[in-house]
Amino acid sequence: MSENIENVRCLIIGSGPAGFTAAIYASRADLKPVIYQGMQPGGQLTITTDVDNFPGYPKGITGPEMMEEFKQQAERFGTLVRSGVVTRVDFSQRPFIAVADDGKTIFAETVIIATGASAKWMGLESEKKFMGMGVSGCATCDGFFYRGQDVAIVGGGDTAAEEATYLAKLCKKVYLIHRRNELRASKAMQHKVLKTTNIEIFWDSIPEEVLGDSSGVTGLRIRNVKTGESKDLSVMGFFVAIGHKPNTEIFAGQLELDEMNYIKTKPGTTQTSVPGVFASGDVQDHYYRQAVTAAGTGCMAAIEAERFLSS
Ligand code: NDP
Repeated sequence: MSENIENVRCLIIGSGPAGFTAAIYASRADLKPVIYQGMQPGGQLTITTDVDNFPGYPKGITGPEMMEEFKQQAERFGTLVRSGVVTRVDFSQRPFIAVADDGKTIFAETVIIATGASAKWMGLESEKKFMGMGVSGCATCDGFFYRGQDVAIVGGGDTAAEEATYLAKLCKKVYLIHRRNELRASKAMQHKVLKTTNIEIFWDSIPEEVLGDSSGVTGLRIRNVKTGESKDLSVMGFFVAIGHKPNTEIFAGQLELDEMNYIKTKPGTTQTSVPGVFASGDVQDHYYRQAVTAAGTGCMAAIEAERFLSS
């Protein structure tokens, strides 16, 4: 057999908490998993700073360090960790076929998808510059660092509304920036936002530039799209909550996806519409989106893959 063609019992696609937890369990079950790390090895946690809500780290740990530990733990039990991206899959027959950008074609008896979701960003240069230094895509993860301070959040959907009310409990003042004059969020969430006294909404406005220095974010310049007027807000944190995009492009047409393109799983399991293909982490969860819940479903996927192979 050519060295570019491989047979594996369990292929894991994606290397965040879901992928590496699946790898730890699958390797301990002797499935000899191969994991393709994808575009962002370690996943979304590698672009955050401190992680204080993952159990077992009483003093906290940085996102990149934590993911390195996940990786080492998976490797300790024999997981083969590869840098590379799976670019094409064929789930129409078993073994399943996956083609990676390192030139390998993999025939896999089971596949665990853990490709996650990517936060959508405004696309500002300054937003990129202060990423992890005051710019965040997750209030639940990073809100704690801005206790007693002023912050801004952009977006008008349920995520922005929920995160704004969450931040309002921790922060002195929360500026909610929305590009239209009404929120997209559910009525119940809208009421919550509107009656929270330390949330101030800037309607018809968009962030124009994140202001800062070597210490991180110090402010946000916003522009009213109707009047053209700009205004500088003095804030230490800027949260972007304009939606997430599940990384499911290569699975379209192969697996059932929901209306937002997340992979559909059978409730209470990680089973997709194709027996033998499992999905874990944010790629199948737009609700919790936490490292610990992703890790939990990674564990479930590996146990289900093992049972599938032995049935
Ligand atoms: P949504 O797509 O619902 O909302 C995104 C928001 O960001 C919209 O208000 C949109 O504005 C705004 N936006 C998008 N792009 C830009 C941009 N480039 N510049 C400025 N603003 C922008 O995403 P969510 O993450 O809020 O929610 C995703 C799904 O998850 C929804 O179905 C939601 O209901 C659900 N959800 C449910 C929760 C719950 O039930 N507790 C909690 C969180 C999410 P505009 O309105 O003008 O389009």
